[in-house]
Amino acid sequence: MVKTLTYTDAVLTYVADTGVREHAVLKTCRDETMAMGGISRMQISPEQGAFMGMTAQLMNAKRYIEVGTFTGYSALAVALALPDDGHVDALDISEEYMAKARGYWAKAGQARKITGHVRPAVETLDQFLAEGQTGRYDFAFIDADKSSYDAYYERMLKLVRPGGLVAIDNVLWSGKVVEASDTSDDTVAIRKLNAKIKGDTRVDTVLLPVADGIFMCRKR
Ligand code: CA
Repeated sequence: MVKTLTYTDAVLTYVADTGVREHAVLKTCRDETMAMGGISRMQISPEQGAFMGMTAQLMNAKRYIEVGTFTGYSALAVALALPDDGHVDALDISEEYMAKARGYWAKAGQARKITGHVRPAVETLDQFLAEGQTGRYDFAFIDADKSSYDAYYERMLKLVRPGGLVAIDNVLWSGKVVEASDTSDDTVAIRKLNAKIKGDTRVDTVLLPVADGIFMCRKR
């Protein structure tokens, strides 16, 4: 792989200013989440939100599901890109964060398109599968506790249709995936899933070195 550019803060600011048409409520969400301090690292970047929105549009996606909603940026970025009859299922364990997220969704006029589910995500995903939602989603996004990534991946792969997308965030984990000395649970879980996906004949894949690494998995 040819490395062409180091993404300095100035370059990333230029990308956000010039290359992203960020909805005013997304900007408010981002600014207010940044003000929460270090935890704001859990929020996706504006260019990643724009990328996910465009991905949804290119797929003609109608149904999007995510694990790890946090304060609602990714769910809103995709909801804004979906048609009027599109729908988002947003899963998170935190009632506090979901309350904030719901505020932004309402402010942007997207609340009717988005359903928040506050519960351990595996339970919600298993419920959807039990309800016959298999193959009913176009686009799934995984961005939650890393130790459960494989459990989310397996369930999302069932929930999306053939030709649908499962996108997995933070798969480079700040570069720790290649630091052999790092044997923390999160790093090991991400490494294991990445290796599994590499050989997974159920999907076509590309690992994008965007943000903290996004594994794009298209279900065959
Ligand atoms: Ca993330």
